[in-house]
Amino acid sequence: MIDRARTLDAGDPLAQYRGRFDVPEGVIYLDGNSLGCLPSATPARLEQVVREEWGSDLIRSWNTAGWIDMPAKLGGKIAPLIGAQPQEVIVSDSVSVNLFKLISAALALRPGRKVVLSEPGNFPTDIYMIEGLEKQGLAERRLAPREELHEALDEDVALLLLTHAHYKTGELFDMAELTRAAHDAGALVLWDLSHSGGALPVDLNGCEADFAVGCGYKYLNGGPGAPAYAFIAQRHIADTQQPLSGWMGHAAPFAFDDDYRPAPGVERLLCGTPGILGLAALEVGVDLIAEIGVENLYAKSQRLSEFFRQCLAESGVELELVSPDDPATRGSQLSFRHDEAYAICQALIARGVIGDFRDPDILRFGFAPAYLRYEDMAEAARHLAEVLESGEWQRDEFRTRAAVT
Ligand SMILES: *Cc1c(COP(=O)(O)O)cnc(C)c1O
Repeated sequence: MIDRARTLDAGDPLAQYRGRFDVPEGVIYLDGNSLGCLPSATPARLEQVVREEWGSDLIRSWNTAGWIDMPAKLGGKIAPLIGAQPQEVIVSDSVSVNLFKLISAALALRPGRKVVLSEPGNFPTDIYMIEGLEKQGLAERRLAPREELHEALDEDVALLLLTHAHYKTGELFDMAELTRAAHDAGALVLWDLSHSGGALPVDLNGCEADFAVGCGYKYLNGGPGAPAYAFIAQRHIADTQQPLSGWMGHAAPFAFDDDYRPAPGVERLLCGTPGILGLAALEVGVDLIAEIGVENLYAKSQRLSEFFRQCLAESGVELELVSPDDPATRGSQLSFRHDEAYAICQALIARGVIGDFRDPDILRFGFAPAYLRYEDMAEAARHLAEVLESGEWQRDEFRTRAAVT
């Protein structure tokens, strides 16, 4: 296995990019779908922002270093990764907060309709944000399993809110088809790209999507709690009213008017003062992903995950796969079901193989192809086989749950 892996690494056109990340020695990192690795250029860039732009230039940097334009500039860089125009994307706040803004905006665009439709088992924050609006009397939450979504799309639905690549299983929705179905029912669509943006090609405009949000700290490698991004299709921007009408989303923040006037562009999604350190770190990650190219990344991630499965099979590991069998219908991850998934995950981490556990019984491995090698696949499969065979996961130390899984 290892020889075959090394041959594949030798022929890998993306192999050089591993050196652009600080992957810790002795670690096989299969959790880039939860927190991407540190790009090697990030610490120096942050040092520069802190020491020069903040330390020396102080408040002048809002103009001289272009801080004020960073949310839109960075949005413009993310846009081509998700099939959007540069003026349709802004970076701000967290995914959760952007969901709140855009769910509210969509409801306002569909007066007389209150239902926000999603699927049970969607990422919790997506569902909770609908619930919050429901408690305020502004929305009605409806959850329908995937196979019943079409049926649930009736004349009461204002918005269909789905996560493109499911966080637990990696299963992809057919974005074009579901967007069309929602539009046919008179509803708008909001796609959560947290597990697809920067991992696989997304074509928001090709699918005529209305709104989207996505995460900065996963495949975009923006660092813990990195700011998120939000997309409004050009045709909706002028009519999009979001309720968090903070001064940074004003048409002229420094006019200090008493009355709120939204910015003409996607900047109207801004709320308060943007976190410049977070934006600066995210920019390094986005530049790097854009340089490598999402098509290239997705092609390699499919090969990596299939090679991993092959290695598992050859090592005699039989685990129930809960991700789609066909790599073209899943994101950049593989998830397996096991009653002792938590302890197995901890035993792997103790060996330096970092994946993660998702309640109640999912063992999840993310394949961030920018910094992973085929050799890592062979080694991770060997470790997993050894952990299962030896039963070392049964040790007490692997069974105590930490706060963050
Ligand atoms: C990671 C993730 C989020 C994260 O939301 P935050 O508000 O940034 O914490 C949201 N939705 C999905 C589908 C995710 O995977």
